[in-house]
Amino acid sequence: MARGLRLWASFPVSWPLMDIRNFSIIAHIDHGKSTLADRMLELTHTVEARKMQAQVLDKMDLERERGITIKMTPVRMAHKLDGNDYQLNLIDTPGHIDFSYEVSRSLRAVEGAILLVDSTQGVQAQTLSVLAMAKEIGLSIIPVVNKIDLPAANIKETKREIGELLGTKEEDILSVSGKTGEGVEALLAEVIKRVPPPKKARRDNEEGTRALVFDFEYSNHKGIVLFLRVMDGNIKKGDKLQLLQAKESFAALEVGIFSPAMIARDSLEEGETGYVVTGIKKIGATTVGDTVTGEKHPLVALSGYKEPQPVVWASLYPEDADDFSTLRQALERLKLEDASLSFEEEASPTLGRGFRSGFLGMLHLEIITERLRREHNLTLIVALPTVAYEVTTKKGIETIYSAALFPVEGDILKIREPWVTATIITPPQYVGAIMQLLFEHEAEVGDTENFGGERTSLTILMPLRELMRNFFDELKSVSSGFASLSYEVAGLQEGDVVRLDILVADEPVTAFSRIVSRKKVDEEAQALVEKLQKNLPKQLFPYKIQGRAFGRIIASRSVSAMRKDVTGYLYGGDVSRKKKLLEKQKKGKKRMKESGKVNIPQEVFLKVMR
Ligand code: GDP
Ligand code: MG
Repeated sequence: MARGLRLWASFPVSWPLMDIRNFSIIAHIDHGKSTLADRMLELTHTVEARKMQAQVLDKMDLERERGITIKMTPVRMAHKLDGNDYQLNLIDTPGHIDFSYEVSRSLRAVEGAILLVDSTQGVQAQTLSVLAMAKEIGLSIIPVVNKIDLPAANIKETKREIGELLGTKEEDILSVSGKTGEGVEALLAEVIKRVPPPKKARRDNEEGTRALVFDFEYSNHKGIVLFLRVMDGNIKKGDKLQLLQAKESFAALEVGIFSPAMIARDSLEEGETGYVVTGIKKIGATTVGDTVTGEKHPLVALSGYKEPQPVVWASLYPEDADDFSTLRQALERLKLEDASLSFEEEASPTLGRGFRSGFLGMLHLEIITERLRREHNLTLIVALPTVAYEVTTKKGIETIYSAALFPVEGDILKIREPWVTATIITPPQYVGAIMQLLFEHEAEVGDTENFGGERTSLTILMPLRELMRNFFDELKSVSSGFASLSYEVAGLQEGDVVRLDILVADEPVTAFSRIVSRKKVDEEAQALVEKLQKNLPKQLFPYKIQGRAFGRIIASRSVSAMRKDVTGYLYGGDVSRKKKLLEKQKKGKKRMKESGKVNIPQEVFLKVMR
């Protein structure tokens, strides 16, 4: 790079608000946010060319391998336009539905958003959901069509769809390629023109400092590091501050900016985005959305964020019981970085001690368990995830998070379960196949709407339980990958579900219990019992694998005894001795059968849970 890296030291310490722009990039997953951010970092010389790697803001190994953004990374850039220097603060956002909580956080810290749409894909379900969030907050929205370098790009049609969606003129929609960099300079100029500079939040006669915590990180020696947007006043190194919601006081041990690596500065000024090292080492000392203000002249709290609500629960057990405390530490550690993770201890007769944990969705569950494996070297058994049921019995109303605690059929007066409202966007030729799939998943179809020339949008209602039954993968498969989905949990509805238990050699194995739709219970019981029959090892005695629901057995398979040849070493024709030995073996088997338990190997749990 000819000019080399620009040094922040060469810029003024205090930027006039007029020269600051805070913005985000929002889009459906894979529409190219991180790649576009890369080009911006290059163009503004924020990252040296030789250090540039694709999707530089995706720091975690896991993010890089999967090509998805899990954790957002803020970054500050400097850019010149018409002879004036501007400070641009970009917050990259994750695109997957499970992380929409992170998106909503980052959007509160900015004044504008680039709405990016892949011109080979067109508008998709999450384009709509992130747009709705940005509109609700009142952000300036800059619509941009991406990937125009590709031969399959359908720029005209994509612009038409966006135009209809936003009610904007097509000439106001920009075109870029995050790959070649075409159009990116013009886009930065539009960000400066269309995104308003930060506004003061305090009243004119008020004084003091106030900042919004939009994220935080934990480090062993620095404690909690707050990522914040200064709304009013400034924060200097050494300032005595407090977190209003958490009621924690601290001194700003270090103050700095993201470039994208953390670089210490003397202060963070009004309108800027940066970090503050607090030294607080208490777990759970802060939550996202908290307000930082001065200890001496506090201002009232900024309106924070909604607490993230877990929608899926699963039990995590260490394969090796000795790892229980390592698992606890690992979860506490992850919780420091991921406020949306929740967990509490539980015990299972078959699996020992573990944790029942709450997640924002299936991808969130997958990412957390993968991080536990990689970053903490844990081998885990993950029990079948479940939603929370509100069950009314004679004793009252209870929320049940695990099949093992679900009351028996006779005791239940009423069950309510979470439903979601979802939007599916698809090319019209797949609507038929999708309708069939929706029927199988107990969905109710609401409005159907066509927009642009090639898109149908379906609004549906369905039980969250059914959404979790592999719905997303099946949707992709029946639509050759073209349909997209976004959803939101939308309250409770009465549900018709029953508890299905599995008995192995007459003993219930609670880890195999699950809650299923009454209509599907026979089918599920058959499938599970068959799967177990294939996978459970033979014993010296025969035993049964049974599915039980409504207090009776509804499916059953037997596993025959393993025959150990006790007579093998007897040569010749001494039949009576052979008989005697076989007799003896029979008795032994009978004894074992009476006291006998089937030891279920961990691999079987792993296979069945999958
Ligand atoms: P994100 O999920 O929105 O952050 O998307 P990414 O930036 O990770 O991009 C998803 C995929 O699209 C990656 O394989 C990128 O290399 C590719 N991609 C992104 N922008 C462009 C573009 O302008 N042109 C082409 N050809 N590919 C792109
Ligand atoms: Mg990304």
